[in-house]
Amino acid sequence: MLHTRNTIKKDAERYSFKPDNSSTPIFGSRESDTILPRTKIGKKSMDPKIAYRLISDEMMHDGNPRYNLCTFVQTYMEEEAKQVMFDTMATNAIDKAEYPQTTEVEKRCVNIIADLWNVNPDEDFMGTSTVGSSEACMLGGMAMKFRWRKRAQEKGIDITARKPNLVISSGYQVVWEKFCVYWDIEMRQVPMTDMNNLTMDAQKAIDLCDEYTIGIVPIMGITYTGTFDDVVALDKAVTEYNKTAKLSVPIHVDAASGGLYLPFVNPELKWDFRLKNVVSISTSGHKYGLVYPGIGWVLWRDKEFLPDELIFKVAYLGAFEPTFQINFSRSGSQIWAQYYLFVRWGFEGFKAVHEKTRDVGLFLAKGLCSLGIFKIINEGKNIPIVCWTLKEECAKDKKWDLYDLADRLRYNGWQVPAYPLPKNFEDVAIMRVVVRADQSMEQMSLFLGDLKQALSDLDKAYIVSHKKNVDEDGKVIPVGYTH
Ligand SMILES: *Cc1c(COP(=O)(O)O)cnc(C)c1O
Repeated sequence: MLHTRNTIKKDAERYSFKPDNSSTPIFGSRESDTILPRTKIGKKSMDPKIAYRLISDEMMHDGNPRYNLCTFVQTYMEEEAKQVMFDTMATNAIDKAEYPQTTEVEKRCVNIIADLWNVNPDEDFMGTSTVGSSEACMLGGMAMKFRWRKRAQEKGIDITARKPNLVISSGYQVVWEKFCVYWDIEMRQVPMTDMNNLTMDAQKAIDLCDEYTIGIVPIMGITYTGTFDDVVALDKAVTEYNKTAKLSVPIHVDAASGGLYLPFVNPELKWDFRLKNVVSISTSGHKYGLVYPGIGWVLWRDKEFLPDELIFKVAYLGAFEPTFQINFSRSGSQIWAQYYLFVRWGFEGFKAVHEKTRDVGLFLAKGLCSLGIFKIINEGKNIPIVCWTLKEECAKDKKWDLYDLADRLRYNGWQVPAYPLPKNFEDVAIMRVVVRADQSMEQMSLFLGDLKQALSDLDKAYIVSHKKNVDEDGKVIPVGYTH
């Protein structure tokens, strides 16, 4: 949140109590009898025990992340994994010379992921960790832009005549909008047209391409619904297009949620470097890579797709290490945690965790279906994202809608967003649960029980008026929706 002058209120009165001593109870201390600093740093130091208690009590206001069913981001790690993170918190991932082993471990992770994504042994892949998929997508996008510019110039295309463009489905995650705004690129959206198949139409994507197209971005795990774009069909269409195109178009796959899920659960599905036009892939380590936020990964199938001018060299063991990142300093602990998880789980462990997660998702979808009032849009077979809407006849009959249901579920601490679908289907409100590794059958059955109770309460409730939360343009503001 950006803080403005308006949000700043005057501090509470300064301390005027007797000093504490070692036997003062925390909640008998002068500090617990006053408001914590909001706009100005306090004058005196505070005992760490008291400070910890007061700060940690503020955390309670965030609710229990384990009950946050809308987030893709990891909310549980084992004690040993947390210890690894704690032990490495003080390392700085950018200091290659000072922390050579962090660099080594990052390389091992890149190698492991490259192998999971089926790199071609004849090519020279490159990759890096990032803060999350957002940074990873930015890097993938920048590489495509710089490569486009160089090739366009070589072909004699007037690069100043128009803005370069990026082709993506209208179900894109907000990072792509940021990318296009920050790097001055025209976003060409492929509208999703089939309510029963909310993915990018390969031919429609091709129709939007021209010699100013830096690339096409399919999504493996569309944020709204969890559906996949058909990268095989897209790759085929791109191959056809490139045969006669003035400038060939590459594919960057945004596999934020699918990238570290599919290789374990559905290795046959082709969406990765097995497809020849896929030049780069990004993913979030903190989604199905199972690390606490924030870590992401981006890989290029070959050096050729990562223009030299984007690479900076930092000192490393008497030589120079190439780096390509927007960020500079950041802790190495997420990298170590990612490596720990690869070591700890192995292929079979990841597979077991992800398959259990999928089972829990399917169980939820079945439970929802049995209630008879929901239409399931995605039951979570491909990736454990379950998403549903009210059946049309129920939407008409009921005095409440999914936004009310989201509110009601909050009584039990569950955070489940209701939000409108993207372009073409804005009128359809849906609910989504992202099933995560730390959700058991038991937890999901508790949730279903609370959901049934919520429905019965809503049916009985006399809803006096229900105003949708709308912005100035009359657009519905989603309740608790996070990407
Ligand atoms: C989550 C997500 C992102 C952004 O990822 P962060 O790791 O949160 O930065 C980008 N694209 C898609 C499809 C996502 O699901």
